[in-house]
Order: sequence, then C-alpha cells, then structure tokens
Amino acid sequence: MSGLLGRETVEAVSLADGTNLPADIVVVSIGSVPAADWLVSSGLDVTRGVECDRTCAVTGVPDVVAAGDLANWYNPLYERHMRVEHWTNAIEQGTFAARDTPRHT
Ligand SMILES: Cc1cc2nc3c(=O)[nH]c(=O)nc-3n(C[C@H](O)[C@H](O)[C@H](O)COP(=O)(O)OP(=O)(O)OC[C@H]3O[C@@H](n4cnc5c(N)ncnc54)[C@H](O)[C@@H]3O)c2cc1C
Repeated sequence: MSGLLGRETVEAVSLADGTNLPADIVVVSIGSVPAADWLVSSGLDVTRGVECDRTCAVTGVPDVVAAGDLANWYNPLYERHMRVEHWTNAIEQGTFAARDTPRHT
C-alpha cells in the first residue's frame, strides 16, 4: 500500500505498482517485533521474545522472570508459547511474575 485516496472518507487504496483498489473501509493490521536487542549479549534466544514457562520463569535461566510484550509465555490454555501485546497483560503478568512463588522449570 502506498496511500489512501478519498476526500471525506476513504475511496480507494493506492498500491505501490500504481493500482488503485476501490474501498469503503480499510482495516490496518500491523505486526510488531519485541525490542530485545539489548538482551542479545545475554545468550538468550530472543528471536521470538524471551521464552518463559507458565509461571513467567525464563527458560534455562534461574531466578529470572519475563512479563509483558517481551515475554514469550507458555499459555496452558492454548498449550503453546505466545506473546500477548496488551496493557492489561503487561500489568497482570508483571504483577504475577514479581510474586515470590515457587517456579516450575
Ligand atoms: C501504537 C500502539 C498502540 C497500542 N494500543 C493498545 C491498546 O489500545 N490497548 C492495549 O491493551 N495495548 C495497546 N498497545 C500495546 C501496549 O502498549 C503494550 O502491550 C504494553 O505497553 C506492553 O508493556 P510492556 O511493559 O511489556 O512494554 P513497553 O510498554 O514497551 O515498555 C518497555 C519499556 O522498556 C524500555 N526499554 C527498552 N529497552 C530498554 C533498555 N535497554 N534499557 C532500559 N529500558 C529499556 C522502553 O523504553 C519502554 O519504556 C499498543 C501499542 C502500540 C505500539
């Protein structure tokens, strides 16, 4: 996409090759990449964020937890790792991760 065309409302989407696609509504869906560059020298694999288990304990590193956008957390509900990019998750996961509870490794 190179631009949106229209006067009062969107009427078309302009593509990079010059094509104009008529449109009434445009939904923009933008992915994100966790800013984990500063952790590269730590030896952690930060390709998909910081992998941690269901308790937020970072995989393979004792006494370190991760929370928020950066955490590639194991979600037992879906039985897979995932990153959740929402304010509520960052707050609740951070609160949970900070608790001094025994951790599964
Ligand atoms: C444009 C936009 C709109 C959004 N809208 C919504 C929304 O409507 N609702 C919603 O629920 N979520 C929304 N989100 C997502 C939400 O902002 C994030 O999920 C949330 O902020 C994650 O919190 P966090 O603490 O994990 O990370 P962040 O909020 O990114 O905090 C990380 C902090 O670490 C700092 N930092 C980074 N590197 C270093 C370093 N080396 N040393 C020290 N500090 C460092 C950063 O400056 C930053 O302050 C939106 C995000 C964006 C980008």
